[in-house]
Amino acid sequence: MEKECTFCQIVRGEKPADIVFQNESVVVFKDIKPHAPVHLLIIPRKHIRSLNDLSDQDKTLLSEMVWAARKMAEEQHISNSGYRIVFNVERGGGQVIFHLHMHLLGGWS
Ligand code: AMP
Ligand code: ZN
Repeated sequence: MEKECTFCQIVRGEKPADIVFQNESVVVFKDIKPHAPVHLLIIPRKHIRSLNDLSDQDKTLLSEMVWAARKMAEEQHISNSGYRIVFNVERGGGQVIFHLHMHLLGGWS
């Protein structure tokens, strides 16, 4: 846990967020500045700086994140119309928040 990390603060309940799902591994909440009708962020509870910092022990977290995205897509009724899952990696890849997260985007049609 990182004291100053916005997403760790959301995980700890210190910062408000529109949380739609959580379990022992991941938390899912609505993006504050959505780029699609459905725009959710899937994050691990554990602070991992970026995809580049994922260790061997963290590998299963990725499948937990993808699994949560798939489940959320079903719940948001965008499974059939389709969706994107996106990782922005490091500054050049558009990463602004340095706590690993996956974007789930959909709902255009
Ligand atoms: P990235 O560019 O991949 O680092 O994306 C970070 C995302 O986090 C952006 O889409 C922001 O709109 C979103 N974001 C930043 N702060 C918050 C917050 N407090 N609650 C929800 N989403 C946030
Ligand atoms: Zn963090």
